Amino acid sequence: MAQASTPSAVTGTTHKWVFPFEEGSADMRDLLGGKGAGCAGMTRAGLPVPPGFTITTEACVAYYSAGQQFPPGMWEQTLAALEAVEKKTGKKLGDPADPLLVSVRSGARVSMPGMMDTVLNLGLNDRSVEGLARLTDNRRFAYDAYRRFIQMFGRIVQDIAPEAFDEVFEAAKTRAGAKQDTDLGAEQLKKIVAEFKQVVRRQTGRDFPADPLDQLSQAIEAVFRSWMGKRAVDYRRAEKISDEWGTAVNVQAMVFGNMGFDSGTGVAFTRDPTTGQKQLYGNFLANAQGEDVVAGIRNAEPIAAMRDHNPGVYAEFERIAAQLERAYRDMQDLEFTVERGKLYMLQTRSGKRTGRSAVKIARDMVAEGILSVDEALLRVEPRHVEQLLLPRFDEQAKAAAESAGRLIAKGVPASPGAAVGEAVLDPDRAEERARAGARVVLVRPETSPDDFHGMIGSQGILTSRGGTSSHAAVVARGLGKPCIVGAETVRVDLARRVFSVDGRQVAEGELISIDGGSGEVLLGEVTTVEPNFAEDEDLQQVLRWADERRRLGVWANADRARDATKARELGAQGIGLCRTEHMFEEAERLPFVRQMILNAAPAKRDPEARKEYLAALEKLLGYQREDFKSLLKAMDGRPVIIRLLDPPLHEFLPKYEDLLVEVTEMRARGQGGPELSEREELLRAVAVMREANPMLGLRGCRLGLLYPEINEMQVRAILEAAVELKKQGHDPQPEIMIPLVGDVRELRRVKEQLVKTAETVTGQAGADVHYKFGTMIEIPRAALTADMIAQEAEFFSFGTNDLTQTVYGFSRDDAEGKFLGFYQDEKLLPNNPFQVLDAEGVGKLVEMGVQLGRKTRPDLEIGICGEHGGDPESVAFCHGAGLNYVSASPYRVPIARLAAAQAAIRGESNTASRESATPE
Ligand code: PEP
Ligand code: MG
Repeated sequence: MAQASTPSAVTGTTHKWVFPFEEGSADMRDLLGGKGAGCAGMTRAGLPVPPGFTITTEACVAYYSAGQQFPPGMWEQTLAALEAVEKKTGKKLGDPADPLLVSVRSGARVSMPGMMDTVLNLGLNDRSVEGLARLTDNRRFAYDAYRRFIQMFGRIVQDIAPEAFDEVFEAAKTRAGAKQDTDLGAEQLKKIVAEFKQVVRRQTGRDFPADPLDQLSQAIEAVFRSWMGKRAVDYRRAEKISDEWGTAVNVQAMVFGNMGFDSGTGVAFTRDPTTGQKQLYGNFLANAQGEDVVAGIRNAEPIAAMRDHNPGVYAEFERIAAQLERAYRDMQDLEFTVERGKLYMLQTRSGKRTGRSAVKIARDMVAEGILSVDEALLRVEPRHVEQLLLPRFDEQAKAAAESAGRLIAKGVPASPGAAVGEAVLDPDRAEERARAGARVVLVRPETSPDDFHGMIGSQGILTSRGGTSSHAAVVARGLGKPCIVGAETVRVDLARRVFSVDGRQVAEGELISIDGGSGEVLLGEVTTVEPNFAEDEDLQQVLRWADERRRLGVWANADRARDATKARELGAQGIGLCRTEHMFEEAERLPFVRQMILNAAPAKRDPEARKEYLAALEKLLGYQREDFKSLLKAMDGRPVIIRLLDPPLHEFLPKYEDLLVEVTEMRARGQGGPELSEREELLRAVAVMREANPMLGLRGCRLGLLYPEINEMQVRAILEAAVELKKQGHDPQPEIMIPLVGDVRELRRVKEQLVKTAETVTGQAGADVHYKFGTMIEIPRAALTADMIAQEAEFFSFGTNDLTQTVYGFSRDDAEGKFLGFYQDEKLLPNNPFQVLDAEGVGKLVEMGVQLGRKTRPDLEIGICGEHGGDPESVAFCHGAGLNYVSASPYRVPIARLAAAQAAIRGESNTASRESATPE
């Protein structure tokens, strides 16, 4: 197994590796993990928690640094803590007279649903099982616990495939004529235990460990090992959780929910994790052990059913739930067990929630006086906002699909949003199809952590079993993917690669549509629509708070009036980047664009070519004037940064290779005449313009230096548009941006010439239009000489796409497809630097650019318009670097608004804690 890279490990026999619950506390999450800290907090608050202890996350880290060995002193401390639990319970691990049984569970700093497995009933062997039978006066219960233990221990600790046990179990059920597990009697279960032990012997070559301490040490080690297991690593990758945190191990006295109908087990959220409604939400299963609920094996009842089974316990649970929510000041996800009428709390942690639920809870908790506005803003995650901008089904399209009989099933809505994709029945294929670019809906009987890689790539998830607390539901909500669970009429036939619903067959690969908000499954594609942002009151309130709190402006990258209007609706305060080349791509303009390009160079010596060149520019001037008029009008009163033409010109021409093939074929067919000559001429022109490294070639301001008429045409169009709008009573605020500058002399030359053009236009019109000239900082040299650049530039916009490309020397067009995935897998890079700004390198240049630029021009307006402008982590960086605004693609504007507020709040609390930590 690969050695985990770990931070410097804490060693030494005196180091404290183990914390009994009463010695820990709720704020020790990093050391005790979420579960451990939760149990410690509840124990300290005097709540009924079965006694236990936590082995720290540090111990896990030390285990890996020591080459997968328990650190010195850890085992001795474990034995001492176990003894304390034995004293408290009056039982002893493995004691045939009165056996203590324990559970062993993992618990990392943040909850990682389903990633780590639990071993229950540890401490059973052939002797203690008899003791348990006598004490409980229930042989069946004792042997059922024993067979569950061997099954779990075999699967989790000894890596035996679950089917090996399932086959034995199913065969025994058939032999006994048992329909349900509960139909099996004590003697039958005892036989199963013996057969399970044979399975273990066959698969591992060794006997099942009978010594409870041996069982315990193996189980602890398995938890440590699972930290580096594939599922855990996959999850951490997706969630950007560090491999170096380690997991804690919790060892806790067992309580039994399966001791009859006055017992039971459940999971509940203090508020509805889908809608945010303030009511207990979850499932209860009478006479069952915890894993039955979580795995969704038996369909559990709603939590309110517990009131009928045991009103006293329900009332106590309600009280505790409210107490925990107040204490943690957040919606809690609780696990509990009732053993013979007595309630035990097993876990409390902040509950995962959908975007809808997150914004409602944040808003409600401020109204209820539980949270301050700042705290509420920190509770909503940027991805929650993203979810609320998710598409849903078009009502009409859905109604039409329904009346055409395409609504085939209804399950339990578990995570909202609409998804359309081909039905895929196993996670490997889902992953493969998603990689190939297909939209996929994963359809499974139920999911387990082994399905995670397939879930990440899917648009949505549909399961036939399980409830709202099942693995599928919890993970999908976390990932923000639409999900339906418990669609019981859906039968998945993996062997034939179909699923059927009431006799109707759907082959793998067929398109289906699912609505995770309503639970509906439809055949074929149903059109989806954008959500109604304007009427989403909870989200609007949260974003208004964010706006009050943030210092960074949020602008948008938009090239057309339609996108600008959308961006404005979503809260954009300006346009940070209009890429004018996108305006050149429209079919009716393309011939003039080509005419301009092909004649630009010849125009310098050939009067005919010059005529053609100027005619093309004149034509494009007309188009551009209208483009800019509508864009500036859509953003009336707000700044609009318009970038002069940037890409290499040959991007607008046919590809050299395609032309070469075409001409060769024409010649081979003996095709001659004007058509061939025209293609040959084009081929020659394209050949002349070919570059080895176009991204570093004739583009950006270099184009304007060689062919000033193109820039002049664009500036003329911008200002003529502005003048017209101004005359109509509008307030246009164009800012003209010169791209890819590396040296102030480039900028000076281009600007001098364009200022003349601008002054001519405004002077002739006699209009007082406010405009600025600025530049992109996207070449390292520009950042390094930003003080000089700022002599000419009235604003800076960091083009972090090109800046990342040039700082790393990674070709944008090649890196992502060729090697960045590998780099991330190998941890050569923490993130894709084209998505998350590389603070260490690119960021250093950004900071330098800001400092130098403002040294020359203190009021310099500085923003960022690379893709990073919509990424929350990068937004936080921009806040820290003192930028004026970030510019993001329109749909990410609300995300950036929240991220900017969070950065402001966190920045202040960091400063405050630094100040308070300063000694007098
Ligand atoms: C950039 O380089 O960051 C940028 C915004 O420009 P483009 O992506 O168009 O090169
Ligand atoms: Mg660029």
